[in-house]
Amino acid sequence: MKKRTGNELRDLFLEYFSNMDHMVEPSAPLVPIDDDSLLWINSGVATLKKYFDGRVIPENPKIVNAQKAIRTNDIENVGFTARHHTFFEMLGNFSIGDYFKKEAIEYAWDFLTNKDYIGFDPDLLYVTIHPEDEDAYRIWNETIGLSPERIIRIEGNFWDIGEGPCGPNSEIFYDRGTSYELDSPAEELYPGGENERYLEIWNLVFSEFNHNKDGSYTPLPKKNIDTGMGLERLASIIQDAPTNFDTDLFTPILGALEKISGSSYGQDDQIDTAFKVISDHIRTVSFAVADGALPSNEGRGYVLRRLIRRAVRFSKDLNIRRAFMYELVDTVAEVMGGFYSNVRERKDFIKEVIKKEEERFLVTLDEGIRIYEGLRDEAKKNDSVISGEAAFRLYDTYGFPYELTKEYAENDGLKVDEEGFIEEMKQQRERARNARKAGESMQVQSETLANITAPSVFTGYDSRKEEAVLTHIIKADTALESLSETGSVELLFDKTPFYAVSGGQIADRGIIENREAKLEVTSVYKAPNGQNVHVANLLSGTINTGAVYSLTVSRNDRNFIIKNHTATHLLHQALKDTLGDHVNQAGSLVEKERLRFDFSHLEGLSEAEIKTIEEIVNEKIYENMDVRISEMPIEEAKAKGAMALFGEKYGSVVRVVDIDEYSVELCGGIHVRNTAEIGLFKIVSESGIGAGVRRIEAVTSKYAAATYKAKEDQLQKIASVLKVKENQVTKKLDAVLEESKALKEENKSLKASRQDEKLSNIDALAETIEGVRVISAEVPAGNAKELRETMDNIKSKAQDAIIALASVNDDKVSLVVTVPKTLTDRIKAGEIMKGMAEAVDGKGGGRPDMAQGGGTNPANITIALQFVKNHVKSSL
Ligand code: ATP
Ligand code: MG
Repeated sequence: MKKRTGNELRDLFLEYFSNMDHMVEPSAPLVPIDDDSLLWINSGVATLKKYFDGRVIPENPKIVNAQKAIRTNDIENVGFTARHHTFFEMLGNFSIGDYFKKEAIEYAWDFLTNKDYIGFDPDLLYVTIHPEDEDAYRIWNETIGLSPERIIRIEGNFWDIGEGPCGPNSEIFYDRGTSYELDSPAEELYPGGENERYLEIWNLVFSEFNHNKDGSYTPLPKKNIDTGMGLERLASIIQDAPTNFDTDLFTPILGALEKISGSSYGQDDQIDTAFKVISDHIRTVSFAVADGALPSNEGRGYVLRRLIRRAVRFSKDLNIRRAFMYELVDTVAEVMGGFYSNVRERKDFIKEVIKKEEERFLVTLDEGIRIYEGLRDEAKKNDSVISGEAAFRLYDTYGFPYELTKEYAENDGLKVDEEGFIEEMKQQRERARNARKAGESMQVQSETLANITAPSVFTGYDSRKEEAVLTHIIKADTALESLSETGSVELLFDKTPFYAVSGGQIADRGIIENREAKLEVTSVYKAPNGQNVHVANLLSGTINTGAVYSLTVSRNDRNFIIKNHTATHLLHQALKDTLGDHVNQAGSLVEKERLRFDFSHLEGLSEAEIKTIEEIVNEKIYENMDVRISEMPIEEAKAKGAMALFGEKYGSVVRVVDIDEYSVELCGGIHVRNTAEIGLFKIVSESGIGAGVRRIEAVTSKYAAATYKAKEDQLQKIASVLKVKENQVTKKLDAVLEESKALKEENKSLKASRQDEKLSNIDALAETIEGVRVISAEVPAGNAKELRETMDNIKSKAQDAIIALASVNDDKVSLVVTVPKTLTDRIKAGEIMKGMAEAVDGKGGGRPDMAQGGGTNPANITIALQFVKNHVKSSL
């Protein structure tokens, strides 16, 4: 077995399968495209769903890829096992209705044992299969020649994610020898058990059933192969490294971390765990940010936040007390940047994001400690237990790690209700799962459309009308020759001017008709083999395949859609001009009435930025720029600097939309011929849609004019309320506000002088009890300090009096009491305060001559003030 680097292994795998006529698919971005059922791409097959469920038919049914993957369900294992990461690479070969079990097993075995490739000793390999999968058993046993005791039957070997393709799987294990048994329990020591000796390297999934909507399983019309092998695990064996972290994919990162921390890797288990956690998490975060995710409080962004926080938390074990993770990004880019160039290209942006997030968390930690102290004081007063709910809130809302809460609590002699905490976590996970469940699985394969291979030519770029032959009528997934039943039906023609929804642009609407029938087109989408499928309502008559129809796209809809599409391109470039090159399209919707554009950007846009962007786009409209559309080889388009959309896959010949060299984008949509046709552009909203993605909504042409008109109407209304001309509105408003301010001040000083008057008449306030003057009153005061000032004021005029004052602010009561020194041997301010405070559900205390307090029940102020008099009477 030849020693090879991680990068060499990746190349070797791709090379082996391309030699076997597989088409190499590029590694797709970690953020799923057009698939909201997944938070992250978590396997090779996740990016190929459209092929597996038959929505799209690939150019070549044999595919190979090296796919980056994020798995957060393994997070608690990371740092503690030799083989788990949150980010790893999965090497996979796939067959879409082509080869099946036998070839898949033969390929895998050959790649692993062939001396020209991996060259493992076959005696160290074991496999698991599903107990009922006799085919797999026979192939492993008879074709490959594995002895029965090395083929282990495991019930769980069945891959099923709900609706869609599913089937049994077979996993391949490598025996790393007895020195890897460590303290694995004996009952787990077998391939497939929880241990480090038998290392699972490759999983072969034989997808042969359709899991139907009704829960039944039927054989798949086209059986698929899906396999996945962890690159890091393969590297650990080849490099004779005890763990994935000791391979060349990680050692440079560990080295950089040694420099930063001053600690050494490989001396102490606890310290090593910190090294592993940090080096794993920095890879995940760097790649995720490079692919367009950003830390935030929900979804994907929350995962990144959690990973950064977990790493920072472990950095304490390395005595690091500052933001540091961002400094590792250079090394990650160096190690991985060859195959994944975007990490290298976006390095500076990634660093900025991580640094900001780290610094933010360091502040959060301080904040969390303060909140923890509040919980601690509560717990000490009660049952010395911090509730699971409180610990969860601290974790969830303030990002304060649970381990820290536990650690602090232990130091303070307290307990944390761990069960309660786990329960809260469970509920949270449940909520997240339910939110995603809706579209978790793939679609059930539709045979009818998948079997149609005759092309349908799209002629709609240049015209809105076409005479075309109806080639297919499909109703309820069945092909018909003719149909006269009114209602919804799907139609294919030899050619069509109707645009199918794609690239954010909505489908055309319009009419299909001939002498015998009339239909209204409601939507258009692409069939697996690329033809435009018209979803239409048959309004009247009979339709027949082979007949000719006139297809007419609604001019009113189309005209406004294309204005918005070209405006979207201008907006995209204007955003880059204004905010920077990190702006990447994250989603787009081009409709008739408006356009919506989502893009990655950290902060909200300022008014000034929005104005600038709007002005740039309008300038480009006023400049009458020609929009030139041409097809060319992708290399040529790239040389022209065309913006390719993030994560989109393009063929070898691409369509380039060039707006007079200001904006050059690869795009299949329909555009205006000259920017002047757009007329006017206006941004109507800018907002965050979570995970560091911003959204702009804008309107053009008559819809833009309409928003200005609405504003004009509003201004007219305001002017008529103010009874001035429109151009006098600001002046008038200024005057009105000025006047209102003056009135408020006057009112305040009037109130104050009335109060002074009242207080100056001490005799009226005071009551004489047992020969002592007692003043017990509610007075206005903004806070406790003002209340003390009022008291000093009264005291200066009545030195000999016992004075008790109360004031109310926002449902809170403030109290002060003073007793002349000459009386404190008989009556104490503190005692009076105690009674008063009790009456208003509060607390208070102080010296014998002066006490302060407060309460939360203003309704009982009279009782509190009465208490003073009663108490004086009974004490003197
Ligand atoms: P395990 O049981 O070891 O956690 P798995 O059965 O969950 O792995 P699969 O879903 O079968 O993994 O993924 C296919 C392959 O991807 C595995 O055989 C392994 O080589 C690799 N792999 C899976 N999860 C991870 C991970 N968290 N870190 C690194 N490699 C992984
Ligand atoms: Mg597995």
